[in-house]
Amino acid sequence: NIFAEIDLGEALNLNIRRCKYVKPTPVQRHAIPISLGGRDLMACAQTGSGKTAAFCFPIISGIMRGHFPQRPRGVRTVFPLALILSPTRELSMQIHDEARKFSYQTGVRVVVAYGGAPINQQLRELERGVDILVATPGRLVDLLERAKVSLQMIRYLALDEADRMLDMGFEPQIRKIVEQMDMPPRGERQTMLFSATFPKEIQRLASDFLSNYIFLTV
Ligand code: AMP
Repeated sequence: NIFAEIDLGEALNLNIRRCKYVKPTPVQRHAIPISLGGRDLMACAQTGSGKTAAFCFPIISGIMRGHFPQRPRGVRTVFPLALILSPTRELSMQIHDEARKFSYQTGVRVVVAYGGAPINQQLRELERGVDILVATPGRLVDLLERAKVSLQMIRYLALDEADRMLDMGFEPQIRKIVEQMDMPPRGERQTMLFSATFPKEIQRLASDFLSNYIFLTV
């Protein structure tokens, strides 16, 4: 069971090799085929388990190889195809760094937006186009209110460290964000929820946001 045997698309497989990833970690071994198969997923994953790649690989592969409707251009609103929500600026920066390595020369563009930093630099990056947006919930709500980002074309949603986002009080923002994705015309959306713990609140999020999902504990 090695990455070279999983067809994620030539450019992504090459980047994985460049990063010296040979063998999938347990969460990757199970989550990647489930996501490539198109199913929603709720996964138990701790820091250090390799969860970043577990949600990045299917998203990058899907965007590289998928056919999506033309997105509006030349307007001041951008239309990402994938959204990765994470609780903190530090985690968002880490995910962004990894996702960029994996998307090197794939044509997939990754942009990060987090709070506690000036918004202007982030706006300039967004205006250059974005396929995968990595964001913290508060900053994303700000961008939505300014109509800088539209979630109408989102096809992949990953919630990372969902329990921590709830602990930090982000549930209203997360619900507001997902509501915008559910507005018509709503296309097919694939959702992955990663959490270290599974209290009632997380189970409720899962039943509200995921459809017909697989629950993975490794
Ligand atoms: P994460 O849990 O996603 O934060 O990953 C923890 C660390 O393990 C990061 O430094 C990753 O780059 C590394 N890593 C993740 N998956 C693999 C893999 N399959 N092989 C080698 N290193 C990995």
